[in-house]
Order: sequence, then structure tokens, then C-alpha cells
Amino acid sequence: MNPLTQNSSVNIVVLGGGPAGGATALGLKALGYGVTLIAEPRPFKAVEGISERVLEGLRNAGFKRALANLPQPSPRMASWNGATNSANTEMLINRSELDRGIGSDLQAAGVHLIHGRVGKIAADSDGFSVEIKDGDAGPVHADFLVEARGRSAPAAGLERLRGSETVSLLQYWQGEPCKPQSAAESFQDGWAWMAAWSDGTRYLQLTFDVATADLPDKAQLIDHCNAILRTLPSAQPFIADAEPTGIIHARTSTPILCREAVGDNWIRVGDAAMAVDPLSGNGIFQALSSALQAPAVINTLLQHPGRAALAKQFYQQRVDHLFHRFARIGRDFYASEERWRDNPFWATRRNWPDNEPLHQETDPDSLTVVRMPVVSNGLIEEHEVVTTNDQPLGIWHLNGIPMAPVVRALQSREQGISPQRCLETALGMSPEIAAGLTRWLYKNQWLKAGS
Ligand SMILES: Cc1cc2nc3c(=O)[nH]c(=O)nc-3n(C[C@H](O)[C@H](O)[C@H](O)COP(=O)(O)OP(=O)(O)OC[C@H]3O[C@@H](n4cnc5c(N)ncnc54)[C@H](O)[C@@H]3O)c2cc1C
Repeated sequence: MNPLTQNSSVNIVVLGGGPAGGATALGLKALGYGVTLIAEPRPFKAVEGISERVLEGLRNAGFKRALANLPQPSPRMASWNGATNSANTEMLINRSELDRGIGSDLQAAGVHLIHGRVGKIAADSDGFSVEIKDGDAGPVHADFLVEARGRSAPAAGLERLRGSETVSLLQYWQGEPCKPQSAAESFQDGWAWMAAWSDGTRYLQLTFDVATADLPDKAQLIDHCNAILRTLPSAQPFIADAEPTGIIHARTSTPILCREAVGDNWIRVGDAAMAVDPLSGNGIFQALSSALQAPAVINTLLQHPGRAALAKQFYQQRVDHLFHRFARIGRDFYASEERWRDNPFWATRRNWPDNEPLHQETDPDSLTVVRMPVVSNGLIEEHEVVTTNDQPLGIWHLNGIPMAPVVRALQSREQGISPQRCLETALGMSPEIAAGLTRWLYKNQWLKAGS
């Protein structure tokens, strides 16, 4: 039977229609699965900044309609540790519009969309029954469940690693229509991110440490935030000639890693699997990273249950690795603000999650050939890869060249034979390819200088 026809009899249900749920649904559809996605609209207005790299990730995920009306990049000012930098830009995106565009892409791809709030989920003998609130649809049966409800996904009794508890308070001010721009600035008890949208809406977001910020009760919260904003030089262009609307929205921004992000018939993707500190401005990017890998993992769990352990290992290792990478990027950025290093907000974040460096110098002696799970033709398979002290998850191919035979050949090469000559004779590479690869090996410290 055509594998695509076979897959279409399996109903996979995705909960949540943000970038992660959307990307997973598109990936599953491309593998021929029947996909139902249940989502309710985002409950608050949010603008977020994305870089060219995130845009590329959204394109690679297959979104077209969602990206059709994105604004041009606008100036971004950053004021950190007393220094101001206005060289960067970011694209300010309206998250509700992005989600609506994702919905159109899903519809065009043939994903069955149900608008409603996910209620109770009950496991049964052949999958799950998902209750839908606020809609006409009855319970939906899932052979396989994808949890993509972002940070609001229930913990479901799974063990989670949490960083310092953090809250971001988002306020809307209204001014005259203006040129879009954004700014970030650190202050004694946290950091601020501000954006002005072309229709004159100003998004003013202050991020605090939950345990020590000593925030007043709700009635005084807006005044408290506004008193801080008035002291921040970068906030002035956003609040001058604008008025607070009196609406404030709290978003939890604690970094959270789910220690078990995949089971035999379920998987968590995006923020539901790991949510990073918004300081990195990379949330959408990391959400896409897990979502782009999930379809191959799900395909393996469904088609080759004998490889379930391998598929789960592949996914969990990547989720853990990415989470720690972003956590360390955040840590180093917090540590670069030295003016309030002993203040609780900064002191806890400059040391979490550990003291491991973000990157290690590659040690040529650490190169090892091992068998590890990789994605191949929409499935997880075990292949020989090369690990290094800085690349513990291994590299399988480089521009289509399998790296394990390259490292084996170089490690067993006779004295006096150059690396390029060795690749030509042992692996039959053309002189051009062998020379290019040799340059890469030296540049990335896979070969000792002068060896
Ligand atoms: C304060 C803050 C600022 C941020 N700023 C940025 C930024 O500038 N740039 C950036 O790249 N990232 C930023 N992020 C991170 C970014 O928002 C997330 O990482 C990203 O949206 C995660 O995508 P996702 O698809 O996993 O989840 P989400 O985008 O959260 O999508 C989840 C979807 O599930 C739906 N849903 C939730 N519960 C239910 C339910 N019960 N039933 C049905 N549907 C439901 C929601 O409505 C939503 O559509 C920020 C995060 C925070 C907290």
C-alpha cells in the first residue's frame, strides 16, 4: 500500500495553533497523515520582534499566507550595562495576525481545523478523547496527540525543570500613528521591552523576578509600572504623546524544560516542550526547532514502534540541548549587565542554569565515531555520526558528505600523507572537494593546525 494512503487513516490531533502546532501539522500533512488541529485565538494582543533567521525558519516550515503581510524590519535600540546600541533592526509582528495566517496555511494544506478551547483529555485503549469547549464540535478521537498549547499547556504530571520564576507585565498605551520601532533597556529590578506599532499602539513590557520584585496588588500595578517606565530613557519616545489605556496583561516568562517531552502516542512541541527566556528574542525560533523535528519522530513511533526508544532519545536529546543552549545565552547576557549584579533579579539569572561555557573550543582529539539517531527520509534511523566535545549530538553529513568515513580515514592515515591526499585516495574524493573539506576541517578545529 502507498505509505501516504496508509498514513491517512491515522488521526493525529494537534492542540494549539501557534507556530509550533502549525509547523508540526504541516509536516505531518506532508507525510500523508490525517491531521486535526484544535485552537482558540490568543487571548490577548501581543506584538513580538523577530529576526531574519526566525523569518527563514517560518518559511522553511512551509508558512506562506502567514508571512504574506509582514512589515519591513524597523529600528531596534538596546540599552544594556550603560551602553546604547541602535545598529539592529527587528520585524515587529502582530501575533494574532500571524496565528490567523497560520490557520489559512493549514486550511490550504488540508488540515482539519476546529475552533474551540481544548477541555479534558482522557486516555483510552486506542488513543485519546479530546473534549472541546466553547464550540459545536463533540469530543475528538486522537490516535496520536501533539501538545502545542504553548506555555499554557498543562504540566500533565510531567517532571519539569524551571528557571527563576519570571513575569512580564505588558501594557498598552495609545498615541498617534507612528513609524514602527522597538527598544530594550535593563533597569535595577529587570528589563523593559517597548514597541511602537504603526497604528499608534505602544506595547510596554516590564519583566521582573516573581519572588523578589515586591509588586503591589493589581489596583496599583499600572502606576508602579508607569513609575518605572518614566525613569527609563529609552521608554520616553514610546510614552511621550501617548496615554495608558489602563489594560495590563501578565505573561509568565520563566524558562521551563519538560524532562519527558515525548511518549509512545504523544509529543509536546514548541513552548509546551521547552519555553525559553523572552530576553533571547528567540522564542518562535526555538518553538519551530522542535516542531520541525516532531513529524519524523511521530512517523517513526507510528510506523516503526520497535524504534520508539531511538526516536524518543533523538527528540529528548535535542529538546534538552536546545533549551540549555538558549538558557546559557540568556545567562551570559544577564551577566553582561554588571551595574546591579548583586540585585536578586540579576544575581540569580547570571548563574543559571550552570557554569558550562556556551561553546567549547573543539578539541581535535575529542572526535569520535558513534551510532546515533538521525532524521532520514522522514524517519528516525540510527547511523554513524561524528561527535566532538562541542557537538555531543553528532554530525552525520556535511553538504551531503558522510563525516564518519572522513574521520576514520583521517585518524588512520599514514604519517606524511596530507589530509587532502588522504581524502582523495581513501574516499575517492575529487581534489576540489577534498581541498574544500580540508579547509573546513582546519577552520572548525577538526584537524590540528599543521597536521
Ligand atoms: C513576555 C514574552 C515575550 C516574548 N517575546 C518574543 C519575541 O519578541 N520574539 C520571539 O520570537 N518570541 C517571543 N516570545 C516567545 C514566543 O511567544 C513563544 O516562544 C512562541 O509563541 C511559542 O510558540 P508555540 O507555538 O509553542 O506556542 P504559542 O505561540 O503560545 O501558541 C499556542 C497556541 O495554543 C492556543 N491555546 C492555548 N491553550 C489552548 C486551549 N486550551 N485550547 C485551544 N487552544 C489553546 C493559543 O491560543 C495559541 O494560539 C515571548 C514570550 C513571552 C512570554
